Amino acid sequence: MRHPATRLCCLLLCLVLLLPGCAPAKEQPASQKYTTQFFGTFDTVVQIIGYAPDQKTFEGYAKAIQTRFEELSRFYDRFYEYEGVNNICTVNKNAGIAPVQVPKEVLDLLEFSLDLYSKAGGHTNIAMGPVLKIWHDYMALYAGSDPAVAKLPPMKDLTAAAQLCDISKVIVDRQASTVFLEEPGMALDVGAVAKGYATQLVTDEIYAQGFTSFIISAGGNVVAMDPPDDGQRDRWPIGIQDPFADPDDPQSAALDAVMVTHESVVTSGDYQRFYFVGDRRIHHIIDPVTLMPADYYRSLTVVCADSGEADFASTCLFVLPYEESRALAARMGWKVMWVFPDGEVAVTDDLLPQLRDRGGATAVKS
Ligand code: ADP
Ligand code: MG
Repeated sequence: MRHPATRLCCLLLCLVLLLPGCAPAKEQPASQKYTTQFFGTFDTVVQIIGYAPDQKTFEGYAKAIQTRFEELSRFYDRFYEYEGVNNICTVNKNAGIAPVQVPKEVLDLLEFSLDLYSKAGGHTNIAMGPVLKIWHDYMALYAGSDPAVAKLPPMKDLTAAAQLCDISKVIVDRQASTVFLEEPGMALDVGAVAKGYATQLVTDEIYAQGFTSFIISAGGNVVAMDPPDDGQRDRWPIGIQDPFADPDDPQSAALDAVMVTHESVVTSGDYQRFYFVGDRRIHHIIDPVTLMPADYYRSLTVVCADSGEADFASTCLFVLPYEESRALAARMGWKVMWVFPDGEVAVTDDLLPQLRDRGGATAVKS
């Protein structure tokens, strides 16, 4: 069975390729369109679609993107350590023992996440590692199992783990380049934000090197830069997966498409990693108050300038009931589409004009 994230990426690629405005340019453009993909970083497929003067130039950019993704994926890994570098896993192993010297990219990600945590009023808590580990272990044990035998973790275990999730005990010392988790048993889990943060960082770096007309899609995190260099379109159309569609069907229609340049589109959904207990779908986005998977939405898409922020936001808004979720999005300036369990869809007013179906937007130059 294909990995769900792989399916999502394939679908996004199909959608980008199939959406209107893909006909050959009237005038021969100076650059050509190229696509490639790689697997093995952040547990997902990363796809690159972009315009370059020739194949060799494109491949050079793609190689640089992949190398940087590989490096960042090692830095932000919470399960494994790697020779020659201290990463999130090293920090966790040293909880309650000693501060750990880490690369600048780790300090940057942690400060970014702590700052957004305080601005957005909690909800996406990178110190929730102990609780998330329990859910992760249950997911690994029961994914694909008979729903009649699959189990939920005991609430007493979750409650005990929640005692070790105090984010104020994550001490980042910029001068010493260290991170310290003050209590033994604490653990960072940056799964809600690292993929988006890394995608934005890599995007900005490669853009500065001269690759400008492209999108990168990393497992539901898409960043679009300059418009497609085809003389026809002034925005990139990014498909939003329908959470009710068959994920194995590449022909399944998108729920909508959002038209973007210099913006990020990030989707979190309950269909990406899950198992069933009876008829209850147990997925990977956990409400820090109930300590259970949040059931308010099937999926939620955030559009904003920064992919790290959009990734943080998608998790954060997912665990809040609609009124609160909408109010927080308005306060933070996040454009959002919510898809409810009954199939209803809600969209913020500022996202509507960028939507193909609901807002009549098009990628084609007027
Ligand atoms: P995806 O990883 O599928 O793109 P998300 O961006 O929503 O989806 O991140 C989900 C991941 O974030 C989970 O696998 C888990 O590691 C972590 N996570 C889940 N709930 C929370 C939460 N409330 N706060 C912080 N991290 C969370
Ligand atoms: Mg997220």
